[in-house]
Amino acid sequence: MAESIHVPLASLLSAKEHPHAFSTPSRTEPVRAGDPAAPVPEFSGGGTFFIETFGCQMNEHDSEKVVGVLLRRGYRQVASPDQARLVFYNTCSIREKAAQKVFSRLGEFNPKNNFGRDSGKVIGVLGCVAQQEGEEIFERAPWVSLVCGSASYRELPLLLARLEAGENRVTGLETDTDETFETELTRRNHPFRAYLTIIEGCDKACSYCVVPYTRGPERSRASESILREVRELADVGYTEIQLLGQTVNSYRDPSNRHLSFAELLLAVAEVPGIRRVRFMTSHPRDMGADIVAAIDSSPALCDHVHLPVQSGSTRVLRAMQRTYTREEYLEKISLIRGARKPISITTDFIVGFPGETERDFEETLSLMELAQFDSAFSFQYSPRPHTPAALMADPVPEAEKQRRLQVLQERQRAIQLQRNQALAGQVFEVLVEGASRRETQWTGRTSSNRSLNFTSSRTDLLGKYVRVRVTGAGPNSLTGNESIE
Ligand code: SF4
Repeated sequence: MAESIHVPLASLLSAKEHPHAFSTPSRTEPVRAGDPAAPVPEFSGGGTFFIETFGCQMNEHDSEKVVGVLLRRGYRQVASPDQARLVFYNTCSIREKAAQKVFSRLGEFNPKNNFGRDSGKVIGVLGCVAQQEGEEIFERAPWVSLVCGSASYRELPLLLARLEAGENRVTGLETDTDETFETELTRRNHPFRAYLTIIEGCDKACSYCVVPYTRGPERSRASESILREVRELADVGYTEIQLLGQTVNSYRDPSNRHLSFAELLLAVAEVPGIRRVRFMTSHPRDMGADIVAAIDSSPALCDHVHLPVQSGSTRVLRAMQRTYTREEYLEKISLIRGARKPISITTDFIVGFPGETERDFEETLSLMELAQFDSAFSFQYSPRPHTPAALMADPVPEAEKQRRLQVLQERQRAIQLQRNQALAGQVFEVLVEGASRRETQWTGRTSSNRSLNFTSSRTDLLGKYVRVRVTGAGPNSLTGNESIE
């Protein structure tokens, strides 16, 4: 049976979740395994580990499970690489900068800098860069001992055992699998929201994306196993669940129950104690009316859909192999906007894809105006190894990419401001996630995933649900006062 360590509430909020100046203590605090009988490995220097995670929420959650595996083997988590015997980097290769950062971290352990393996550390590279670069990592950084992609995480206990037995180099680089990574123990970082991966890998083949290469084929977790873990999470006090997957709504229950994604959402929402269910990231092609109907019918399903569009030009979408046209995407937007609930819609954009003309870019801007997104992540295209787009001709000059990104971000900011200002006077329930030092200012999230900073005369609100009246708005957050009605 899976076990979850529920860490004291205020101590472990991720700074990433809180862009504001609220208290968000470090999430790297050491946490001991719950099982004192777990064997302590024979590494000289003791069974201590440090892990740093780069990239997306999927990676963050993978690390929570990796930490669970290590704790279960008797290791103890420490707050810095200096204190650790085992140093792991869970890496991201979605953009070049993220991949470079990992090699700069590894460089800190170069024995030539008198800080390498002779200091007794075992260095491991996990995740997308591990999968992408494979054994070449040993060439670039010979002091690394473990290279393991996410599709091989279920092999981690075995790989650790081999390291503990004295092997110098071990790899887990298989991607041809139909298994998901399930752990006996997951050490969750977020005190109020529990992340839970329901589908791994990706069977789409977007021409710019490394994920199908680094995370392997799509494989879903059985619904009963998901629901069992949700019940356990509710038992230890979690009220908010976020279901994860690169294409979460492509979920296909491999068990005999054959639940659709919408049916799974409703089943999770019905678990006693669960008040909020979120999911991310949805692929537009698999966004159906049944999902919108499920959100409409269940108060626990949050009013938010993240639906990456990437471009507003059908020509560019084709080159990206996104499998929908501009018109089809806008139909999905109409479907969601037609719901009874005011579902917020957020998205991702890539500007400067090879061959993107000024006219294509104008189409992206016009789609943005039509869709009226509540928030957007936007990036300049950067070619990634092993992707078809990396070989495409007609690159957009860097300066032009930058200009387009700036124009797009300014327009999106104006849309957000306008949409947020329209919420003034309304009352929303927020889950309180952060507090100012004197506990007079609080921050929480609405069901629509907006950040709402508010004042209250009450104390001890962390983790509670509070009704807040909106009094002001910026492009990225709302402000308000607790509503006592
Ligand atoms: S849907 Fe496309 S962008 Fe998303 S993970 Fe799959 S291949 Fe990458």
